[in-house]
Amino acid sequence: MSMNALEERLNGWFRAPWLIYHKPFEIVDHVYFVGNTWVSAFLLDTDEGLVLIDCAIQETLYQMIDSFYQLGFDPHDLKKILLTHGHFDHCGAAGSLQKMSGCEVWVGEGDGNFFTEHREWIAHEDRCPEFEVTGYYDYTKPIDLGNFRLEAVHCPGHTEGTTSFFFEATYRGERVNCAIHGGLGAGVLTDSNLEAMGLRKSLREDYLVSIEKVLDRPVDVVLPSHAGHPVGYDFFGIADSKPGAGDTFVDKGAWKRMLTAKRAEIVKLIENSKL
Ligand SMILES: [Zn+2]
Repeated sequence: MSMNALEERLNGWFRAPWLIYHKPFEIVDHVYFVGNTWVSAFLLDTDEGLVLIDCAIQETLYQMIDSFYQLGFDPHDLKKILLTHGHFDHCGAAGSLQKMSGCEVWVGEGDGNFFTEHREWIAHEDRCPEFEVTGYYDYTKPIDLGNFRLEAVHCPGHTEGTTSFFFEATYRGERVNCAIHGGLGAGVLTDSNLEAMGLRKSLREDYLVSIEKVLDRPVDVVLPSHAGHPVGYDFFGIADSKPGAGDTFVDKGAWKRMLTAKRAEIVKLIENSKL
């Protein structure tokens, strides 16, 4: 989708956020989807309290709060938000959630300046109420949440500080490897967007290197940061078919399919670049 077409759709969603509502659902034990049909947010019920990976846009905050309650949780109990990167669609609701719960907000250090001197890099920063960044990920050690240990992996490209998460969970008595790639949108890396935003063009090479870095990881359950990131993995189709159909989110090929498709896209973008 071109940036203009996306902007047009976005403006529609800002005015009518109920158009992208999706009911919350459990993915694997203690891991829930609480995002919308455009951008994901994942809630982890951990020994250290409630933890969100991304929190979607400010306009859908009411949906997320309702999703917490539907799942039997209280949003005031939220302890941490772990952001995959600094774009508004992943952090737009963080300011309100932090006000409501006093939660910490963590981000990759590369995106730290999104919240200081480069708020324009948030994109639609006027729709992203400010929040306090608690700290930056230490990529050398896991984030220990008791029943979950998250490995944060720096995957620069989509932004400087894009961070992916890998962790084990349980599902139907089995251990499963779950993963969320922090940022796969290649549209921000077109010549015109790089120039308009004043971003370095080598972010595209970084994107490619980041994909190679995590491509061969064994992943059983893909948590898509945007469910529209395609490649044969119908996230909501699976969610809507539950319960009873025997379907699960376990798909050992999905991670590689998703990243291989994105790798082809970025290679083409680099080949066709005029910069
Ligand atoms: Zn983004």
